[in-house]
Amino acid sequence: MRIHVNTGGLAATNSYLIADETAGVAALIDAPQHTIEPLLKIAQHHDWDVPLLLLTHGHWDHISDHKVYTDHYPHGKVLIHRLDEPKLQHPGSKIFQLPYIIQPRSADGHIQDDDEEIIGSIRLKAIFTPGHSPGHIAFYFAEENLLFGGDLLFAGSIGRTDLPDSDPNAMRQSLLRVMKLPDETLVYPGHGPQTSIGDERQSNPYLT
Ligand SMILES: [Zn+2]
Ligand SMILES: [Zn+2]
Repeated sequence: MRIHVNTGGLAATNSYLIADETAGVAALIDAPQHTIEPLLKIAQHHDWDVPLLLLTHGHWDHISDHKVYTDHYPHGKVLIHRLDEPKLQHPGSKIFQLPYIIQPRSADGHIQDDDEEIIGSIRLKAIFTPGHSPGHIAFYFAEENLLFGGDLLFAGSIGRTDLPDSDPNAMRQSLLRVMKLPDETLVYPGHGPQTSIGDERQSNPYLT
């Protein structure tokens, strides 16, 4: 398994390219502005197919580059939870005017809790983690002990719950759920550096 990260856009958002290099297959998690082209170059260099763009949620900073992906992979599928699809269909910020336009689109399919996706021989599971947004999903790789947490959990912080469709109570339940994962689980968040469930259990002020 290979993981490439790229960070970009106004909110310094992380996108990830996850590859089974033996099978020659990869998937993207999230599509911040100006991050996808370089990741697809890596995929093309290795001759990896990239059939999936998985979106943790529909906030503008995580979806901006979706069209860069589908322009390269017209048959690629963009998946998101049903409750966050409206943000993909009407992209933008509810708080300020974005200085650029995100193409609206519908999802090619919906991800819901416990769904499994496959990248070559790598399995990942969707964990429904609403709170920051109503249709937020984290992607868990049980065998590899990895969690791609989107805007649920950051190193030393958690996702905002003061947005118009945030739900602090749902956020609390979602955090309780992922904190049941083993300490050694590495967390690749939507913003900032990677961390682990164990480190956050010990030192994250929002979890005590
Ligand atoms: Zn967000
Ligand atoms: Zn974000």
